[in-house]
Amino acid sequence: AETNSNGNSNSSLKIPEIKFTKLFINGEFVDSVSGKTFETIDPRNEEKIADIAEGDKDDVDLAVKAAREAFDHGPWPRMSGSERGRIIMKFVDLVEQNLEEIAALDAIDVGKVFSFGKSREAPFAASVLRYYAGAADKIHGTTLKLSNQLQGYTLYEPIGVVGHIIPWNFPSGMFLFKAGPALAAGCTMVVKPAEQSPLSALYLSHLAKLAGVPDGVINVVNGYGPTAGAAITSHMDIDCVSFTGSTEVGRLVMQAAATSNLKTVSLELGGKSPLIIFDDMDVDAAINLALMGGFANKGEYCVCSSRIFVQEGIYDEFVSKIAIYSKGLTAGDPFDPSTLHGPQADKAQYEKVLSYIEHGKQQGATLLTGGNPCGGKGYYVEPTIFTDVKDDMLIATDEIFGPVMCVFKFKTIEEAIARANSTQYGLAAGIATKDLNIANTVSRSIRAGIVWINCYLAFDADSPYGGYKLSGFGRDFGMEALYKYLQVKSVVTPVHNSPW
Ligand code: NAD
Repeated sequence: AETNSNGNSNSSLKIPEIKFTKLFINGEFVDSVSGKTFETIDPRNEEKIADIAEGDKDDVDLAVKAAREAFDHGPWPRMSGSERGRIIMKFVDLVEQNLEEIAALDAIDVGKVFSFGKSREAPFAASVLRYYAGAADKIHGTTLKLSNQLQGYTLYEPIGVVGHIIPWNFPSGMFLFKAGPALAAGCTMVVKPAEQSPLSALYLSHLAKLAGVPDGVINVVNGYGPTAGAAITSHMDIDCVSFTGSTEVGRLVMQAAATSNLKTVSLELGGKSPLIIFDDMDVDAAINLALMGGFANKGEYCVCSSRIFVQEGIYDEFVSKIAIYSKGLTAGDPFDPSTLHGPQADKAQYEKVLSYIEHGKQQGATLLTGGNPCGGKGYYVEPTIFTDVKDDMLIATDEIFGPVMCVFKFKTIEEAIARANSTQYGLAAGIATKDLNIANTVSRSIRAGIVWINCYLAFDADSPYGGYKLSGFGRDFGMEALYKYLQVKSVVTPVHNSPW
Protein backbone atom coordinates (compact mmCIF):
# COMPACT_ATOMS: atom_id res chain seq x y z
CA ALA A 1 0.00 0.00 0.00
CA GLU A 2 1.09 3.55 -0.57
CA THR A 3 1.85 5.38 2.63
CA ASN A 4 1.25 9.01 3.38
CA SER A 5 2.88 10.46 6.47
CA ASN A 6 1.59 8.87 9.67
CA GLY A 7 1.08 10.75 12.90
CA ASN A 8 -0.51 14.04 13.82
CA SER A 9 1.52 16.34 11.63
CA ASN A 10 -0.55 15.60 8.53
CA SER A 11 -3.93 15.93 10.21
CA SER A 12 -6.34 18.03 8.21
CA LEU A 13 -8.76 18.37 11.11
CA LYS A 14 -8.22 19.68 14.59
CA ILE A 15 -8.27 16.85 17.13
CA PRO A 16 -11.50 17.06 19.11
CA GLU A 17 -11.34 18.36 22.62
CA ILE A 18 -11.78 15.47 25.08
CA LYS A 19 -14.64 16.74 27.24
CA PHE A 20 -15.66 13.57 29.06
CA THR A 21 -13.35 11.12 30.80
CA LYS A 22 -15.34 10.08 33.90
CA LEU A 23 -17.98 7.42 34.39
CA PHE A 24 -21.57 8.39 33.54
CA ILE A 25 -23.90 7.25 36.32
CA ASN A 26 -27.41 8.50 37.06
CA GLY A 27 -27.03 11.41 34.67
CA GLU A 28 -23.75 12.68 36.14
CA PHE A 29 -20.10 12.33 35.19
CA VAL A 30 -18.39 10.91 38.28
CA ASP A 31 -15.00 9.54 39.33
CA SER A 32 -14.68 5.83 39.94
CA VAL A 33 -15.12 4.64 43.53
CA SER A 34 -11.49 3.51 43.65
CA GLY A 35 -10.28 6.75 42.05
CA LYS A 36 -8.34 4.66 39.53
CA THR A 37 -7.86 5.68 35.91
CA PHE A 38 -6.43 4.05 32.79
CA GLU A 39 -4.83 5.55 29.72
CA THR A 40 -6.43 5.53 26.31
CA ILE A 41 -3.80 5.51 23.56
CA ASP A 42 -3.83 7.05 20.09
CA PRO A 43 -2.92 4.23 17.65
CA ARG A 44 -1.62 6.76 15.10
CA ASN A 45 1.33 7.78 17.24
CA GLU A 46 1.22 5.50 20.33
CA GLU A 47 0.71 8.55 22.57
CA LYS A 48 -1.72 8.97 25.46
CA ILE A 49 -4.98 10.73 24.60
CA ALA A 50 -6.44 10.97 28.12
CA ASP A 51 -6.75 9.32 31.52
CA ILE A 52 -10.14 7.65 31.80
CA ALA A 53 -11.95 6.80 35.04
CA GLU A 54 -11.63 3.05 35.55
CA GLY A 55 -14.78 1.41 36.86
CA ASP A 56 -15.00 -2.00 38.47
CA LYS A 57 -17.52 -3.96 40.53
CA ASP A 58 -18.34 -1.09 42.94
CA ASP A 59 -19.05 1.27 40.06
CA VAL A 60 -21.15 -1.33 38.24
CA ASP A 61 -23.16 -1.74 41.46
CA LEU A 62 -23.83 2.01 41.56
CA ALA A 63 -24.73 2.08 37.88
CA VAL A 64 -27.11 -0.88 38.25
CA LYS A 65 -28.71 0.77 41.29
CA ALA A 66 -29.37 3.89 39.20
CA ALA A 67 -30.68 1.85 36.28
CA ARG A 68 -32.87 -0.27 38.58
CA GLU A 69 -34.35 2.82 40.23
CA ALA A 70 -35.00 4.39 36.81
CA PHE A 71 -36.70 1.20 35.68
CA ASP A 72 -38.70 0.41 38.83
CA HIS A 73 -39.79 3.95 39.68
CA GLY A 74 -38.75 6.32 36.89
CA PRO A 75 -40.76 7.69 33.99
CA TRP A 76 -38.99 5.92 31.10
CA PRO A 77 -40.72 2.51 31.02
CA ARG A 78 -44.02 4.13 32.02
CA MET A 79 -44.13 6.67 29.18
CA SER A 80 -46.16 5.93 26.10
CA GLY A 81 -44.14 4.55 23.24
CA SER A 82 -44.67 7.73 21.26
CA GLU A 83 -43.28 9.88 24.07
CA ARG A 84 -40.18 7.70 24.24
CA GLY A 85 -39.94 7.79 20.46
CA ARG A 86 -40.04 11.58 20.47
CA ILE A 87 -37.11 11.77 22.91
CA ILE A 88 -35.11 9.15 20.97
CA MET A 89 -35.78 11.20 17.82
CA LYS A 90 -34.25 14.28 19.54
CA PHE A 91 -31.26 12.14 20.42
CA VAL A 92 -30.95 11.18 16.73
CA ASP A 93 -31.04 14.86 15.74
CA LEU A 94 -28.17 15.63 18.15
CA VAL A 95 -26.18 12.67 16.81
CA GLU A 96 -26.70 13.92 13.26
CA GLN A 97 -25.67 17.44 14.21
CA ASN A 98 -22.42 16.11 15.70
CA LEU A 99 -21.27 13.49 13.19
CA GLU A 100 -17.83 15.11 12.88
CA GLU A 101 -17.15 15.07 16.57
CA ILE A 102 -18.31 11.46 16.93
CA ALA A 103 -16.17 10.33 13.98
CA ALA A 104 -13.17 12.27 15.25
CA LEU A 105 -13.37 10.65 18.69
CA ASP A 106 -13.38 7.18 17.10
CA ALA A 107 -10.55 8.20 14.73
CA ILE A 108 -8.21 9.08 17.57
CA ASP A 109 -9.35 6.25 19.83
CA VAL A 110 -9.12 3.33 17.37
CA GLY A 111 -7.63 4.74 14.15
CA LYS A 112 -10.87 4.69 12.20
CA VAL A 113 -10.65 6.55 8.89
CA PHE A 114 -12.37 9.85 9.68
CA SER A 115 -14.19 10.26 6.36
CA PHE A 116 -15.60 6.71 6.70
CA GLY A 117 -16.75 7.41 10.26
CA LYS A 118 -18.30 10.72 9.35
CA SER A 119 -19.98 9.76 6.10
CA ARG A 120 -20.79 6.07 6.69
CA GLU A 121 -20.61 4.67 10.20
CA ALA A 122 -22.00 7.55 12.25
CA PRO A 123 -24.86 8.37 9.81
CA PHE A 124 -25.74 4.67 9.65
CA ALA A 125 -25.77 4.45 13.45
CA ALA A 126 -28.08 7.50 13.50
CA SER A 127 -30.39 5.77 11.02
CA VAL A 128 -30.56 2.72 13.29
CA LEU A 129 -31.48 4.93 16.23
CA ARG A 130 -34.14 6.63 14.10
CA TYR A 131 -35.57 3.23 13.12
CA TYR A 132 -36.08 2.36 16.79
CA ALA A 133 -37.46 5.81 17.59
CA GLY A 134 -40.12 4.96 15.03
CA ALA A 135 -40.62 1.47 16.46
CA ALA A 136 -41.22 2.64 20.04
CA ASP A 137 -44.97 3.12 19.52
CA LYS A 138 -45.42 -0.02 17.44
CA ILE A 139 -44.87 -2.58 20.15
CA HIS A 140 -48.02 -4.63 20.43
CA GLY A 141 -49.13 -8.13 21.23
CA THR A 142 -51.86 -10.31 19.78
CA THR A 143 -55.41 -11.13 20.77
CA LEU A 144 -56.05 -14.78 21.59
CA LYS A 145 -59.49 -16.26 21.11
CA LEU A 146 -58.62 -19.43 23.03
CA SER A 147 -61.56 -21.71 23.94
CA ASN A 148 -65.27 -21.09 24.41
CA GLN A 149 -64.62 -20.30 28.04
CA LEU A 150 -61.46 -18.22 27.71
CA GLN A 151 -59.98 -15.33 25.78
CA GLY A 152 -56.74 -13.50 26.14
CA TYR A 153 -54.11 -11.17 24.80
CA THR A 154 -50.37 -10.83 24.96
CA LEU A 155 -48.54 -7.84 26.42
CA TYR A 156 -44.96 -7.01 25.49
CA GLU A 157 -43.15 -5.50 28.44
CA PRO A 158 -39.61 -4.11 28.73
CA ILE A 159 -37.29 -6.78 30.10
CA GLY A 160 -35.79 -4.44 32.71
CA VAL A 161 -32.19 -3.41 33.34
CA VAL A 162 -29.90 -4.46 30.51
CA GLY A 163 -26.12 -4.74 30.33
CA HIS A 164 -24.39 -3.86 27.07
CA ILE A 165 -20.81 -5.04 26.66
CA ILE A 166 -19.28 -3.78 23.43
CA PRO A 167 -16.04 -4.13 21.46
CA TRP A 168 -13.73 -1.45 20.09
CA ASN A 169 -14.06 -1.86 16.34
CA PHE A 170 -17.23 0.28 16.01
CA PRO A 171 -17.30 2.20 19.27
CA SER A 172 -19.97 4.80 18.55
CA GLY A 173 -21.93 2.59 16.15
CA MET A 174 -22.11 -0.34 18.55
CA PHE A 175 -23.22 1.94 21.39
CA LEU A 176 -26.16 3.21 19.32
CA PHE A 177 -27.02 -0.16 17.72
CA LYS A 178 -27.66 -1.55 21.18
CA ALA A 179 -29.02 1.56 22.90
CA GLY A 180 -31.66 2.12 20.16
CA PRO A 181 -33.81 -0.99 20.63
CA ALA A 182 -33.28 -1.06 24.41
CA LEU A 183 -34.46 2.56 24.72
CA ALA A 184 -37.44 1.97 22.43
CA ALA A 185 -38.47 -1.06 24.51
CA GLY A 186 -38.44 1.05 27.69
CA CYS A 187 -35.42 -0.59 29.28
CA THR A 188 -32.67 1.08 31.28
CA MET A 189 -29.04 0.15 30.78
CA VAL A 190 -25.48 -0.12 31.97
CA VAL A 191 -22.98 0.04 29.11
CA LYS A 192 -19.39 -1.12 29.27
CA PRO A 193 -17.42 0.09 26.25
CA ALA A 194 -14.19 -1.69 25.33
CA GLU A 195 -11.17 -0.43 27.26
CA GLN A 196 -9.51 0.46 23.93
CA SER A 197 -12.34 2.87 23.00
CA PRO A 198 -13.87 4.65 25.99
CA LEU A 199 -14.44 8.10 24.47
CA SER A 200 -17.46 8.14 22.16
CA ALA A 201 -19.84 6.32 24.55
CA LEU A 202 -19.35 9.12 27.10
CA TYR A 203 -19.99 11.79 24.49
CA LEU A 204 -23.11 10.00 23.20
CA SER A 205 -24.47 9.65 26.76
CA HIS A 206 -24.08 13.38 27.15
CA LEU A 207 -26.09 13.89 23.93
CA ALA A 208 -28.78 11.50 25.20
CA LYS A 209 -29.09 13.56 28.36
CA LEU A 210 -29.39 16.77 26.34
CA ALA A 211 -32.14 15.10 24.31
CA GLY A 212 -34.14 14.42 27.46
CA VAL A 213 -33.38 10.77 28.22
CA PRO A 214 -34.02 10.71 31.99
CA ASP A 215 -31.18 10.22 34.47
CA GLY A 216 -30.38 6.61 35.24
CA VAL A 217 -31.70 5.28 31.91
CA ILE A 218 -28.23 5.21 30.31
CA ASN A 219 -25.16 4.58 32.47
CA VAL A 220 -21.64 4.08 31.16
CA VAL A 221 -18.93 2.31 33.16
CA ASN A 222 -15.59 2.23 31.37
CA GLY A 223 -13.11 -0.34 32.59
CA TYR A 224 -11.66 -3.77 31.87
CA GLY A 225 -13.46 -6.97 30.90
CA PRO A 226 -12.56 -9.27 33.80
CA THR A 227 -13.52 -6.58 36.34
CA ALA A 228 -16.24 -4.20 35.07
CA GLY A 229 -17.45 -6.56 32.32
CA ALA A 230 -17.63 -9.59 34.60
CA ALA A 231 -19.45 -7.56 37.26
CA ILE A 232 -22.20 -6.93 34.69
CA THR A 233 -22.52 -10.52 33.50
CA SER A 234 -22.75 -11.91 37.05
CA HIS A 235 -24.93 -9.14 38.50
CA MET A 236 -28.10 -10.36 40.22
CA ASP A 237 -30.06 -7.24 39.31
CA ILE A 238 -29.41 -7.13 35.56
CA ASP A 239 -32.12 -8.85 33.54
CA CYS A 240 -30.46 -9.23 30.14
CA VAL A 241 -26.97 -8.96 28.69
CA SER A 242 -26.30 -8.14 25.07
CA PHE A 243 -22.66 -8.85 24.31
CA THR A 244 -20.61 -8.23 21.19
CA GLY A 245 -17.05 -9.46 21.17
CA SER A 246 -14.98 -12.61 20.89
CA THR A 247 -16.33 -16.16 21.04
CA GLU A 248 -13.98 -16.89 23.93
CA VAL A 249 -15.44 -14.12 26.11
CA GLY A 250 -18.95 -14.96 24.87
CA ARG A 251 -18.64 -18.33 26.58
CA LEU A 252 -17.71 -16.59 29.86
CA VAL A 253 -20.71 -14.28 29.53
CA MET A 254 -23.08 -17.24 29.20
CA GLN A 255 -21.48 -19.07 32.11
CA ALA A 256 -21.80 -16.01 34.36
CA ALA A 257 -25.44 -15.58 33.38
CA ALA A 258 -26.12 -19.23 34.16
CA THR A 259 -24.49 -19.17 37.57
CA SER A 260 -25.99 -15.83 38.67
CA ASN A 261 -29.64 -15.00 37.98
CA LEU A 262 -30.26 -16.68 34.59
CA LYS A 263 -30.38 -13.31 32.87
CA THR A 264 -31.12 -13.60 29.17
CA VAL A 265 -28.10 -13.41 26.90
CA SER A 266 -27.46 -12.50 23.29
CA LEU A 267 -24.02 -13.00 21.79
CA GLU A 268 -22.70 -11.36 18.63
CA LEU A 269 -19.34 -13.07 18.25
CA GLY A 270 -16.51 -13.66 15.81
CA GLY A 271 -16.47 -14.76 12.19
CA LYS A 272 -14.39 -16.10 9.33
CA SER A 273 -16.69 -15.14 6.53
CA PRO A 274 -16.41 -16.45 2.97
CA LEU A 275 -16.92 -14.48 -0.23
CA ILE A 276 -17.55 -16.87 -3.14
CA ILE A 277 -16.84 -15.50 -6.60
CA PHE A 278 -18.08 -17.45 -9.62
CA ASP A 279 -16.61 -17.59 -13.13
CA ASP A 280 -19.37 -15.49 -14.71
CA MET A 281 -18.48 -12.49 -12.58
CA ASP A 282 -16.71 -9.43 -13.96
CA VAL A 283 -13.24 -9.67 -12.40
CA ASP A 284 -12.85 -5.97 -11.61
CA ALA A 285 -16.23 -5.87 -9.88
CA ALA A 286 -15.32 -9.01 -7.92
CA ILE A 287 -12.04 -7.45 -6.80
CA ASN A 288 -13.84 -4.35 -5.59
CA LEU A 289 -16.12 -6.51 -3.46
CA ALA A 290 -13.19 -8.52 -2.10
CA LEU A 291 -11.15 -5.44 -1.21
CA MET A 292 -14.09 -3.81 0.52
CA GLY A 293 -15.11 -6.99 2.36
CA GLY A 294 -11.57 -7.89 3.38
CA PHE A 295 -9.94 -4.56 4.12
CA ALA A 296 -12.66 -2.07 5.13
CA ASN A 297 -12.01 -0.73 8.62
CA LYS A 298 -8.52 -2.33 8.33
CA GLY A 299 -10.11 -5.77 8.57
CA GLU A 300 -11.38 -5.01 12.07
CA TYR A 301 -14.85 -6.08 11.07
CA CYS A 302 -16.56 -9.14 12.51
CA VAL A 303 -18.04 -9.83 9.04
CA CYS A 304 -14.72 -9.27 7.26
CA SER A 305 -14.54 -11.49 4.15
CA SER A 306 -11.24 -13.01 5.16
CA ARG A 307 -11.75 -16.12 2.98
CA ILE A 308 -12.15 -15.39 -0.74
CA PHE A 309 -13.11 -18.41 -2.87
CA VAL A 310 -12.57 -17.78 -6.60
CA GLN A 311 -13.71 -20.21 -9.30
CA GLU A 312 -10.89 -21.63 -11.40
CA GLY A 313 -11.82 -19.92 -14.70
CA ILE A 314 -11.07 -16.41 -13.41
CA TYR A 315 -8.69 -17.30 -10.58
CA ASP A 316 -5.41 -16.35 -12.29
CA GLU A 317 -6.70 -13.01 -13.54
CA PHE A 318 -8.26 -12.26 -10.15
CA VAL A 319 -5.02 -12.96 -8.30
CA SER A 320 -2.77 -10.97 -10.58
CA LYS A 321 -5.11 -7.95 -10.56
CA ILE A 322 -5.95 -7.89 -6.83
CA ALA A 323 -2.22 -7.78 -6.03
CA ILE A 324 -2.01 -4.54 -8.00
CA TYR A 325 -5.33 -3.00 -6.92
CA SER A 326 -4.68 -3.57 -3.21
CA LYS A 327 -1.68 -1.25 -3.45
CA GLY A 328 -4.12 1.60 -4.06
CA LEU A 329 -5.33 1.35 -0.46
CA THR A 330 -3.31 4.28 0.82
CA ALA A 331 -2.33 3.84 4.46
CA GLY A 332 -1.91 6.83 6.71
CA ASP A 333 -3.35 9.22 9.24
CA PRO A 334 -7.12 8.64 9.46
CA PHE A 335 -7.71 12.40 9.19
CA ASP A 336 -5.84 12.71 5.88
CA PRO A 337 -8.48 12.81 3.11
CA SER A 338 -6.35 10.54 0.91
CA THR A 339 -6.20 7.81 3.56
CA LEU A 340 -8.13 4.60 2.93
CA HIS A 341 -6.36 2.41 5.48
CA GLY A 342 -5.77 3.43 9.11
CA PRO A 343 -3.72 1.87 11.91
CA GLN A 344 -4.87 -1.22 13.84
CA ALA A 345 -6.74 -0.19 16.98
CA ASP A 346 -4.04 -0.99 19.52
CA LYS A 347 -0.67 -2.59 20.08
CA ALA A 348 -2.09 -6.02 21.00
CA GLN A 349 -4.12 -6.12 17.80
CA TYR A 350 -1.14 -4.95 15.72
CA GLU A 351 1.07 -7.67 17.16
CA LYS A 352 -1.63 -10.32 16.73
CA VAL A 353 -2.02 -9.47 13.04
CA LEU A 354 1.74 -9.57 12.41
CA SER A 355 2.06 -12.89 14.19
CA TYR A 356 -0.66 -14.46 12.01
CA ILE A 357 1.15 -13.18 8.93
CA GLU A 358 4.28 -14.93 10.23
CA HIS A 359 2.28 -18.16 10.75
CA GLY A 360 1.00 -17.94 7.18
CA LYS A 361 4.52 -17.66 5.82
CA GLN A 362 5.86 -20.44 8.05
CA GLN A 363 3.00 -22.81 7.18
CA GLY A 364 3.84 -22.45 3.50
CA ALA A 365 1.20 -20.09 2.11
CA THR A 366 2.35 -17.72 -0.65
CA LEU A 367 2.47 -14.08 0.37
CA LEU A 368 0.97 -12.36 -2.67
CA THR A 369 1.21 -8.81 -1.38
CA GLY A 370 1.69 -6.81 1.85
CA GLY A 371 2.77 -8.63 4.96
CA ASN A 372 4.70 -5.85 6.70
CA PRO A 373 4.18 -2.97 9.08
CA CYS A 374 3.82 0.24 7.07
CA GLY A 375 6.82 1.75 8.86
CA GLY A 376 7.14 4.79 11.07
CA LYS A 377 5.16 5.36 14.24
CA GLY A 378 1.74 3.92 14.85
CA TYR A 379 0.15 0.50 14.47
CA TYR A 380 -0.05 0.35 10.68
CA VAL A 381 -0.05 -2.99 8.81
CA GLU A 382 -0.13 -3.31 5.02
CA PRO A 383 -3.21 -4.90 3.43
CA THR A 384 -2.00 -8.49 3.10
CA ILE A 385 -3.09 -11.24 0.71
CA PHE A 386 -2.10 -14.91 0.83
CA THR A 387 -2.63 -17.52 -1.91
CA ASP A 388 -1.87 -21.26 -1.90
CA VAL A 389 -3.54 -21.44 1.49
CA LYS A 390 -4.62 -24.86 2.78
CA ASP A 391 -8.06 -24.95 4.43
CA ASP A 392 -6.56 -26.07 7.74
CA MET A 393 -3.80 -23.45 8.06
CA LEU A 394 -4.21 -21.05 10.97
CA ILE A 395 -4.69 -18.07 8.68
CA ALA A 396 -7.61 -19.97 7.07
CA THR A 397 -9.34 -21.07 10.27
CA ASP A 398 -8.77 -18.33 12.86
CA GLU A 399 -10.37 -14.94 13.03
CA ILE A 400 -7.44 -12.54 12.61
CA PHE A 401 -9.46 -9.32 12.86
CA GLY A 402 -7.01 -7.45 10.67
CA PRO A 403 -6.16 -6.78 7.00
CA VAL A 404 -5.21 -10.35 6.09
CA MET A 405 -7.06 -12.11 3.28
CA CYS A 406 -6.75 -15.70 2.03
CA VAL A 407 -7.60 -16.43 -1.61
CA PHE A 408 -8.61 -20.02 -2.49
CA LYS A 409 -9.37 -21.66 -5.85
CA PHE A 410 -12.46 -23.85 -6.33
CA LYS A 411 -14.03 -25.84 -9.16
CA THR A 412 -17.71 -26.64 -8.48
CA ILE A 413 -20.60 -25.01 -6.66
CA GLU A 414 -20.83 -28.03 -4.31
CA GLU A 415 -17.15 -27.68 -3.41
CA ALA A 416 -17.56 -23.93 -2.76
CA ILE A 417 -20.54 -24.50 -0.44
CA ALA A 418 -18.79 -27.25 1.51
CA ARG A 419 -15.57 -25.29 1.98
CA ALA A 420 -17.37 -22.04 2.81
CA ASN A 421 -19.32 -23.89 5.50
CA SER A 422 -16.32 -25.73 6.90
CA THR A 423 -15.70 -23.20 9.65
CA GLN A 424 -16.75 -23.06 13.26
CA TYR A 425 -18.21 -19.62 12.59
CA GLY A 426 -21.39 -18.58 10.76
CA LEU A 427 -21.70 -14.82 10.75
CA ALA A 428 -21.77 -13.61 7.14
CA ALA A 429 -21.12 -14.71 3.57
CA GLY A 430 -20.93 -13.11 0.14
CA ILE A 431 -21.82 -14.53 -3.27
CA ALA A 432 -20.73 -12.89 -6.52
CA THR A 433 -22.44 -14.22 -9.65
CA LYS A 434 -24.84 -13.11 -12.38
CA ASP A 435 -26.63 -16.47 -12.23
CA LEU A 436 -29.75 -16.16 -10.09
CA ASN A 437 -30.03 -19.89 -9.65
CA ILE A 438 -26.49 -20.19 -8.29
CA ALA A 439 -27.08 -17.20 -6.03
CA ASN A 440 -30.28 -18.72 -4.62
CA THR A 441 -28.83 -22.20 -4.19
CA VAL A 442 -25.71 -20.95 -2.41
CA SER A 443 -27.56 -18.47 -0.20
CA ARG A 444 -29.89 -21.25 1.01
CA SER A 445 -26.96 -23.59 1.64
CA ILE A 446 -24.72 -21.26 3.63
CA ARG A 447 -24.95 -21.52 7.40
CA ALA A 448 -24.55 -17.85 8.27
CA GLY A 449 -26.76 -15.12 9.69
CA ILE A 450 -26.43 -12.75 6.74
CA VAL A 451 -25.74 -13.49 3.07
CA TRP A 452 -24.89 -10.72 0.62
CA ILE A 453 -25.44 -11.36 -3.09
CA ASN A 454 -23.37 -9.11 -5.37
CA CYS A 455 -22.69 -6.73 -2.50
CA TYR A 456 -20.88 -6.85 0.81
CA LEU A 457 -21.23 -4.93 4.09
CA ALA A 458 -24.70 -3.89 2.93
CA PHE A 459 -26.29 -3.15 6.31
CA ASP A 460 -29.68 -1.66 6.94
CA ALA A 461 -31.49 -0.91 10.20
CA ASP A 462 -34.38 -3.14 9.07
CA SER A 463 -32.22 -6.16 8.24
CA PRO A 464 -31.55 -8.43 11.26
CA TYR A 465 -27.94 -9.29 11.81
CA GLY A 466 -26.21 -11.94 13.93
CA GLY A 467 -24.59 -15.34 13.92
CA TYR A 468 -25.03 -19.08 13.48
CA LYS A 469 -22.74 -21.60 15.18
CA LEU A 470 -19.84 -20.09 17.18
CA SER A 471 -20.72 -16.65 15.86
CA GLY A 472 -23.38 -16.55 18.58
CA PHE A 473 -27.13 -16.07 18.75
CA GLY A 474 -29.59 -13.23 18.99
CA ARG A 475 -29.85 -10.43 16.47
CA ASP A 476 -29.02 -6.75 16.27
CA PHE A 477 -31.08 -4.49 13.95
CA GLY A 478 -34.60 -5.07 12.73
CA MET A 479 -37.60 -5.78 14.93
CA GLU A 480 -35.76 -8.94 16.10
CA ALA A 481 -33.41 -6.77 18.16
CA LEU A 482 -36.33 -4.94 19.76
CA TYR A 483 -37.80 -8.24 20.94
CA LYS A 484 -34.54 -9.08 22.74
CA TYR A 485 -35.43 -6.29 25.13
CA LEU A 486 -39.08 -7.25 25.63
CA GLN A 487 -40.77 -10.15 27.33
CA VAL A 488 -44.21 -11.41 26.61
CA LYS A 489 -46.98 -11.86 29.12
CA SER A 490 -50.18 -13.78 28.34
CA VAL A 491 -53.28 -12.33 29.99
CA VAL A 492 -56.22 -14.72 30.07
CA THR A 493 -59.77 -14.06 31.18
CA PRO A 494 -62.94 -16.24 31.33
CA VAL A 495 -65.80 -15.70 28.92
CA HIS A 496 -69.18 -16.79 30.30
CA ASN A 497 -71.91 -18.43 28.24
CA SER A 498 -70.41 -17.80 24.83
CA PRO A 499 -71.59 -20.24 22.18
CA TRP A 500 -68.54 -19.27 19.98
P1 NAD B 1 -13.35 -9.19 23.54
O1 NAD B 1 -14.31 -10.31 23.63
O2 NAD B 1 -12.01 -9.35 24.09
O3 NAD B 1 -13.96 -7.88 24.23
C1 NAD B 1 -15.26 -7.42 23.98
C2 NAD B 1 -15.79 -6.76 25.23
O4 NAD B 1 -15.89 -7.73 26.27
C3 NAD B 1 -14.89 -5.65 25.77
O5 NAD B 1 -15.71 -4.61 26.26
C4 NAD B 1 -14.16 -6.34 26.90
O6 NAD B 1 -13.71 -5.47 27.89
C5 NAD B 1 -15.24 -7.25 27.43
N1 NAD B 1 -14.76 -8.39 28.21
C6 NAD B 1 -13.54 -8.99 28.15
N2 NAD B 1 -13.47 -9.98 29.07
C7 NAD B 1 -14.65 -10.02 29.72
C8 NAD B 1 -15.19 -10.83 30.75
N3 NAD B 1 -14.50 -11.79 31.32
N4 NAD B 1 -16.46 -10.61 31.15
C9 NAD B 1 -17.20 -9.64 30.57
N5 NAD B 1 -16.74 -8.82 29.60
C10 NAD B 1 -15.48 -9.01 29.16
O7 NAD B 1 -13.32 -8.83 22.01
P2 NAD B 1 -12.41 -7.74 21.30
O8 NAD B 1 -11.10 -8.32 21.00
O9 NAD B 1 -12.47 -6.46 22.04
O10 NAD B 1 -13.28 -7.52 19.96
C11 NAD B 1 -13.06 -8.27 18.84
C12 NAD B 1 -14.06 -9.41 18.75
O11 NAD B 1 -15.38 -8.93 18.66
C13 NAD B 1 -13.85 -10.20 17.49
O12 NAD B 1 -13.89 -11.58 17.78
C14 NAD B 1 -15.03 -9.83 16.62
O13 NAD B 1 -15.42 -10.73 15.67
C15 NAD B 1 -16.08 -9.57 17.61
N6 NAD B 1 -17.09 -8.71 17.04
C16 NAD B 1 -18.29 -9.24 16.72
C17 NAD B 1 -19.28 -8.47 16.17
C18 NAD B 1 -20.62 -9.05 15.82
O14 NAD B 1 -21.55 -8.32 15.64
N7 NAD B 1 -20.76 -10.34 15.71
C19 NAD B 1 -19.06 -7.12 15.97
C20 NAD B 1 -17.83 -6.58 16.30
C21 NAD B 1 -16.85 -7.39 16.85
